[in-house]
Amino acid sequence: MKKGLSGKTVYREKYTPYPWTLEHARFRFDIGEDVTRVLSVLQFNRSDADGSVTEIELDGQDMELVTIAMNGSRLEAGDYSCTAEKLLVHNATQRCELEIEVLIKPHENTALEGLYPSSDFLLTQCEAEGFRKISYFPDRPDVMTCYEVTIIADKQRYPVLLSNGNAVESGDLDDGRHWVRWSDPFAKPCYLFALVAGNLACIEDHFKTRSGRDVTLRVYVEHENQDRCEHAMESLIHSMKWDEDRFDLEYDLDIYNIVATNDFNMGAMENKSLNIFNSKYVLARPDTATDFDYQGIEGVIGHEYFHNWTGNRVTCQDWFQLTLKEGLTVFRDQEFSSDMHSRAVKRIQDVRQLRSRQFPEDSGPMSHPARPDKYLEINNFYTMTVYQKGAEIVRMYHTLLGEDGFQKGMKLYFQRHDGQAVTCDDFLASMADANEVCLEKFGRWYGQSGTPQLTVSGHHDVDARTFTLILSQRTPATHDQEIKQALVIPVAVGLLDSQGKAHELRLTGEDGPGGHSRLLLLEEDKQEFVFEGIAEQPIPSLLRGFSAPVKLEYPYTSSELAVLMAHDSDAFVRWEAAQLLAQREILANVERLAIGSDPRLMPELTEAFAALLADTETDPALIAEALSLPAEEYLAEQMKVIDVDGIHAARKFVKSSLAKALGNEFSMRYQSVDDTEPYSKSPASMARRSLKNVCLSFLLETDSGVSLAESQLESSDNMTDTLAALQGLLWVEAPAADHLLKAFEDNWSEDALVMDKWFSMQAALPGKRALERVRQLLDHPGFSLTNPNKVRSVIGVFSMANPTGFHTADGSGYRLHADQVMALDKLNPQVAARMAGAFNPWTRYDSQRRDLMKAELNRIRTAEGLSASVSEIINNALAMEKTSSSL
Ligand SMILES: [Zn+2]
Repeated sequence: MKKGLSGKTVYREKYTPYPWTLEHARFRFDIGEDVTRVLSVLQFNRSDADGSVTEIELDGQDMELVTIAMNGSRLEAGDYSCTAEKLLVHNATQRCELEIEVLIKPHENTALEGLYPSSDFLLTQCEAEGFRKISYFPDRPDVMTCYEVTIIADKQRYPVLLSNGNAVESGDLDDGRHWVRWSDPFAKPCYLFALVAGNLACIEDHFKTRSGRDVTLRVYVEHENQDRCEHAMESLIHSMKWDEDRFDLEYDLDIYNIVATNDFNMGAMENKSLNIFNSKYVLARPDTATDFDYQGIEGVIGHEYFHNWTGNRVTCQDWFQLTLKEGLTVFRDQEFSSDMHSRAVKRIQDVRQLRSRQFPEDSGPMSHPARPDKYLEINNFYTMTVYQKGAEIVRMYHTLLGEDGFQKGMKLYFQRHDGQAVTCDDFLASMADANEVCLEKFGRWYGQSGTPQLTVSGHHDVDARTFTLILSQRTPATHDQEIKQALVIPVAVGLLDSQGKAHELRLTGEDGPGGHSRLLLLEEDKQEFVFEGIAEQPIPSLLRGFSAPVKLEYPYTSSELAVLMAHDSDAFVRWEAAQLLAQREILANVERLAIGSDPRLMPELTEAFAALLADTETDPALIAEALSLPAEEYLAEQMKVIDVDGIHAARKFVKSSLAKALGNEFSMRYQSVDDTEPYSKSPASMARRSLKNVCLSFLLETDSGVSLAESQLESSDNMTDTLAALQGLLWVEAPAADHLLKAFEDNWSEDALVMDKWFSMQAALPGKRALERVRQLLDHPGFSLTNPNKVRSVIGVFSMANPTGFHTADGSGYRLHADQVMALDKLNPQVAARMAGAFNPWTRYDSQRRDLMKAELNRIRTAEGLSASVSEIINNALAMEKTSSSL
């Protein structure tokens, strides 16, 4: 692994097209014991505007150039030049065939980009810029071509040889090796290239597309995992059907392969017809995977499949446009999950994630617009902002245009751009033109970073019988961008009376009253909307369905929140009202504890929770979401200076007070949803389990909890119930906890994915012992710094989901984390950079913790041979100090 390459900032404005058309690419991979020989034959045709370019520029890293020839003649030293990152071929002819042979060493590749080993097979990961570690090539998404790939390898060791497209030919060689030739008829950029070679098992199924194409579907895994692929296969079939039904999009090849690996930097990769997945998003059996895992698998399988159109058939011009494919495809996978399960629960879960992870990104050192203007290391921009906020932007198009209008826009987008590499502006233009509307101002969402603050107030005029909603917006200055403009913010609203009954709405200018909900468009800094025929002061139900990714402020009283919680027709608003009540209660207690007062619980919250527990009409999964107290991370976001210990103590106090006050209610609800039926993965069963386990987590705060959790663990036939019970027992330090943890380990020590749960469960445990425990986990024989899932389970969970452990006042948590980041950087800079991000909010803490974190940031910054990836994160974090005072 080479260190400290380039480190040059890339700017969106400086985009220039590649001056050559790549007409075809042919590859031969000869896989050897230590070395793989890659031969490429590339056909170029000059295509720059004035036809004067004579140099072909190719990207390449970490490889040995063996030979290079142009139009059949071998090139000599002066005919080309080769640096650590580029190969420049001089004096190229108008039409020109380059033949290049290189040697690469996949077995030395720990960065998991390019061609690398996992267990005893080889695979690739090329997005964003991994292909340049495989062969010299124009490694940019706007260079698209058709590939023909021949793979040669030992037949016994590598019986399965896969690449993109269709397998067109194969054969055996005399020396025990064999070969397979793949041909992909669709032009694609090299980031979508994939190759897999190894001894893998597979399960097979078929899908008949609407037009009658019979597609062979295969899921490849290591042999011992063959009994865990069924859910992934079902999810794939559901995805293919859904995309036909909802988006009118059909699959375009005869084969679709998925390969699962334990060693993967991300979740999964949408390579054309050969998806490669982190095994976490493929493998599931009721006893090994939780309901959350099952839903995650369905969502990610869907996501990668949907990329076939939104990403592969139409791709990005450059990496600044990443949200073009990711925001759109996340939106599509969210819609898929919503159509398959409860739309309301899915929306709540997505909003929870957006607010606890993307909002902090907006206010931190890595703030950037969904379409960034510059980057140092593109891998650092696979962010919540590009993905999740990007999906919110696409959702707002949908809200503004409606389903029909949105689908019209999608049709035009494919009509115009199928087979092209395009931009976010092209997508916007398709949406606008198909619906004959102007979306120019809406386009600001792509270029502006930061979370807009939406402030709402209401004025009731008794005499005029009107209610005026005054909406104003302000986006605070961010680390990357000082000046902000007004955005187009769709605000879905309704009005309730004091009994919770919905008003028929009539805005000034409308003919007559109609409907209970309106979509208001806030386009200026401040606007007023007048509702007529409102006799008494109403309760506004605001931002229904979370219609825009903003922070909302409205001076609700507790009793107004209780009315919304009980009566609003919008499930999101009802959930939000419950969250807000709980949040106020917890934050008030943080303040009480900080000044040495006794914490206390207001009756409103207890009453609200009692009503939730008594509600047997509503979907249990929704009740479970409403009963779940806001996470510590989200509560931290609400404080000017984050008080980690105060938040932890206050949240625990509120939880245990509610549990004690409503012990019987929790217990009865627990019993009522406790399944006596055997496990099922139906949405209804999942919903009951989620409510049951939320009740259990409260009951663990009472005397009866421990024995309840122990018997749940004992009788459980699925991982959801097992994990909820075991984790609960650990959190309350039940006497049998350590023994049960050991039994779990003995049971699952050979199972990498289940052991990830064992690791993360412990890394998340709060309090004084956290650090000692994490040290032990790092020394555990099952832990490995080269495996990203293990790194995320221990180092990731400790630094990002264990606030009291990580932020131990003496700084020992920071020190341990910095050591891990530096060690990891030598193996896998991409994952190290992710982990380094744990320090991002450092300026939000008290001065003692700030100083301690700053010292660790500086220690990492000056480490020898620091990668560009980590360096970008650290330098941005340190620069935050200068701006944080002015924000
Ligand atoms: Zn994606």
